[in-house]
Amino acid sequence: MSIDHNPAVFVTAGEFKAALDQQGGVCAVCHKVSRRLVVDHDSEGAVRGVLCHDCKAAKGMLHNDPRLLRNMIDYLRSNGGS
Ligand SMILES: [Zn+2]
Repeated sequence: MSIDHNPAVFVTAGEFKAALDQQGGVCAVCHKVSRRLVVDHDSEGAVRGVLCHDCKAAKGMLHNDPRLLRNMIDYLRSNGGS
């Protein structure tokens, strides 16, 4: 049974559950329980973890680029963020 939305890479329900259990049943980024969880893969197709829909979308909007994410953190902190 495949439950991933990416047609190029599929995981079994067991692989999904194992990845989610390893994260304590929550999104790997925001640590929230979500009904809309998706598997996140690296460019080679290896499972990185399980993310909620919002975190997966945010990661994609930043083009999976850690430099852009660091810039966003700096921007938020310099403009009143915690
Ligand atoms: Zn999340």
